[in-house]
Amino acid sequence: MTNDLPPRRTVSVRTRLLSVTGLAVVASLLIWHSQLSDFLGFDSADTEPVVAGSGAPGSTKPPVAKRTATPPTAKPTKPPSTRPPSSKPPKPKKTPTKAPSTSYDESSTEGLSKTLRTRLLKAIAAAKTDGVTISITSGRRSAAKQQKLLDEAIQKYGSYQAATRWVLPPEYSAHVKGKAVDIGPQLAMQWLNRNGYRYGICRRYDNEPWHFEALTTPGKKCPPREPHAVAKAD
Ligand SMILES: [Zn+2]
Repeated sequence: MTNDLPPRRTVSVRTRLLSVTGLAVVASLLIWHSQLSDFLGFDSADTEPVVAGSGAPGSTKPPVAKRTATPPTAKPTKPPSTRPPSSKPPKPKKTPTKAPSTSYDESSTEGLSKTLRTRLLKAIAAAKTDGVTISITSGRRSAAKQQKLLDEAIQKYGSYQAATRWVLPPEYSAHVKGKAVDIGPQLAMQWLNRNGYRYGICRRYDNEPWHFEALTTPGKKCPPREPHAVAKAD
């Protein structure tokens, strides 16, 4: 029993000593390596770009030290995560432009031809002095609106031919061209039918007492009325 103890102690002490010494050696190697790196100008923290190539002075180090010291696998290239902060410039905003043919307020002088609008405004002012208010029920229309009205008229009157006595197709309609205006109420129709020629505005159709166009020179007699609209070009 007594013989067994000392050798065990020495062994364990020796092992401890050895390991301590080894650790010290490794530590000193580490320190030396980092100092050398600093001296050579390597930033051993992140970028270790040229260890492999120009590491000639430190190449004699045992592989153990290398493994524990700094990972030599670190590639010099920085992570390509540096993305331009705004890769795409903001697109110029495209505001949806209104279709010019559909943007008119149909119940105003908007979109009417300059001639008709000018004459109509004079007539409206004159009627007002007579105590009559002229209201625009339908002025400039889009082709789509005109087509819709025609489709409805065909349903109502039973045929295209009958419908076009009241509603012309878009390609023939003076409303789509801004050259016709429907007005109300009854009193205004009567006033404009009587006085419209002074301003060059005339009722055109027998069957539409509300429909007026600029058909004559201001002050001149209006042309004879037509019984109804006809689907043909003017
Ligand atoms: Zn009309």
